[in-house]
Amino acid sequence: MIELKNLTKVYGSKSRATTALSGLNLTVDKGEIFGVIGHSGAGKSTLIRCINLLERPTGGEVWVGGRNLTSLGKRELQLERRRIGMIFQHFNLLSSATVYDNIAFPLRLAGTDRTKLKSKVEELLSLVGLEAHSGKYPSQLSGGQKQRVGIARALASDPDVLLCDEATSALDPQTTDSILKLLLDINRKLGLTILLITHEMHVIQSICDRVAVIHEGGIVEQGPVAEVFLKP
Ligand code: ADP
Ligand code: ADP
Repeated sequence: MIELKNLTKVYGSKSRATTALSGLNLTVDKGEIFGVIGHSGAGKSTLIRCINLLERPTGGEVWVGGRNLTSLGKRELQLERRRIGMIFQHFNLLSSATVYDNIAFPLRLAGTDRTKLKSKVEELLSLVGLEAHSGKYPSQLSGGQKQRVGIARALASDPDVLLCDEATSALDPQTTDSILKLLLDINRKLGLTILLITHEMHVIQSICDRVAVIHEGGIVEQGPVAEVFLKP
């Protein structure tokens, strides 16, 4: 579902250049939950931002759902991006919009008609368990509820892939577990492919099928979680 081929990202130029990714290769299969773990500065966030081309790779190719995103023009890329949802450590919600309108946002951008929009938003509210909070603003929600809104918004365009950028790092352990459980439910229910990056082993061991360890911009080890990290 996701294939990264010889992916390279260099920030800056000449004497100030930082190589964040150095010829990285990675394949994530359809329907799996794949975790990338590594220390701060290893290249995790660059990696995940390159997949939807929030960050332009310096070299290499990004394939998602059988299409080479790095070869697409602006308009085609915009369409392909709807197949890729993303959630963030700090949720990135619109603070002046309600839960309902945050979730509706991508649907409005896509020009979804009002009947379909309403039923889709209601379906998503129910999927993430926020039916009773649809009229609230982000400031009135707990961290876990905010991330549920983030998840619902990411799923609004029925993506094939969900990218999770340190999605539980700002949450306490109990809330982390409830969000991880929700991600697992969604993966099982919708057959959604999930790629997550984290610096927390707990996240990997709770829900990932496979894991890759990233170090200095390259994958140094990968495989089924139980093989890469023998459980105690
Ligand atoms: P991680 O998410 O694992 O902490 P990053 O992808 O953020 O790693 O960073 C990888 C390397 O790239 C680090 O050396 C970091 O300092 C550098 N880097 C990240 N973003 C930028 C940027 N916008 N400009 C310059 N260097 C950057
Ligand atoms: P339209 O935007 O097409 O006029 P509606 O009359 O259904 O659609 O909704 C108007 C606004 O009311 C929405 O943008 C949203 O802010 C709010 N709204 C609608 N349904 C709900 C709901 N179930 N929960 C919270 N707010 C809602």
